[in-house]
Amino acid sequence: MGYVVLQKSKLNDFIATLSSEQKVMAPVSKGYNNYAFEQVTSGEQVSMDYIPTILPPKKYFMPQQETIVKYDTSEGQKMEAVVEYEKMTVFGVHTCDIAGISCLNMVFSERPRDLNYLTRKNKIGIIGLECNKKCDEHATCGLMQNFTPNGGYDLFFTDLGDYFMVHVNTNLGDDMVARVNIFDKAEGDHHKALEALRAEKQKVFKSEVDIDHDELTDLLKNTQESKVWEERGKECLACGNCTNVCPTCYCFDMVDDINLDLKTGQRTRVWDSCQHESFATVAGHENFREERSDRQRHRFNRKFYYPVSKFNKYFCTGCGRCTRACMAEISMPATLKQLAKEK
Ligand code: SF4
Ligand code: SF4
Repeated sequence: MGYVVLQKSKLNDFIATLSSEQKVMAPVSKGYNNYAFEQVTSGEQVSMDYIPTILPPKKYFMPQQETIVKYDTSEGQKMEAVVEYEKMTVFGVHTCDIAGISCLNMVFSERPRDLNYLTRKNKIGIIGLECNKKCDEHATCGLMQNFTPNGGYDLFFTDLGDYFMVHVNTNLGDDMVARVNIFDKAEGDHHKALEALRAEKQKVFKSEVDIDHDELTDLLKNTQESKVWEERGKECLACGNCTNVCPTCYCFDMVDDINLDLKTGQRTRVWDSCQHESFATVAGHENFREERSDRQRHRFNRKFYYPVSKFNKYFCTGCGRCTRACMAEISMPATLKQLAKEK
């Protein structure tokens, strides 16, 4: 493990060699400051300077739709579990999205373990890419302290001018470096340049909302009856964009597709959203969160309050996607600021 160096002029060779062995997904420009993770075969296709993609890389770990079971009842009850996966490497994952994958790992490793998620996770290599500057005003990675690497990747690239400093974090990362075999040894000057960048970033990536990182749970606990939730409820369109784009949202529904023979079919897992009206409806048509205001409060509780007691971790990475994607312009940082005034 440790550090190696990749000259920028060799990035193309790195991506091309990796992609000759397996699928490589990386951020690609879609125009108008939009980016998406897509398959690439050369470094030229990759946007190395990008704001968070429309969907986070969770789409590879937890696809928007996946078949879980196929069944056939024509002779008895035949059920076949389905696990869909493919070997791939996701290149250029920012620290906020690596933090999001770490949250999903915790959720799906709980008993009963989720075989589909965990199988895919074991087949997907992660190569991180450091943000040297803040992406935009919607991100709260300073508040969430996710702007520097904190594990959860195989390799991690930091742009230091003419070269990338590369942290090798796992055996898989070590294998990639050995197989591609175009890396140089990291020397003292490379380490100094990395330290200088990180020190500079500590000055720039400050909390965006003037709230202490450690006080977020108390902030939510103390504002459960706030008028802010009514305001958000009036604004919200209940479209579910905010949860779909969130790297830590994992709620899903199960859908049965029965074929016309009424004997065969499949059960599919699809993303769901706590912002949809029907999400909390149970038998007897009782809905525990009928009001949009209740659902908005629930969304914030699910980021800063509930997961802390269960996983000792916030489930917001500060990526800013929910704010960027909201058609009603509901802003995560602005709402936190408003709550802080009421505390
Ligand atoms: S994206 Fe905005 S409008 Fe849509 S559900 Fe989320 S908060 Fe409501
Ligand atoms: S709640 Fe918003 S800012 Fe936080 S991780 Fe989810 S999408 Fe990103």
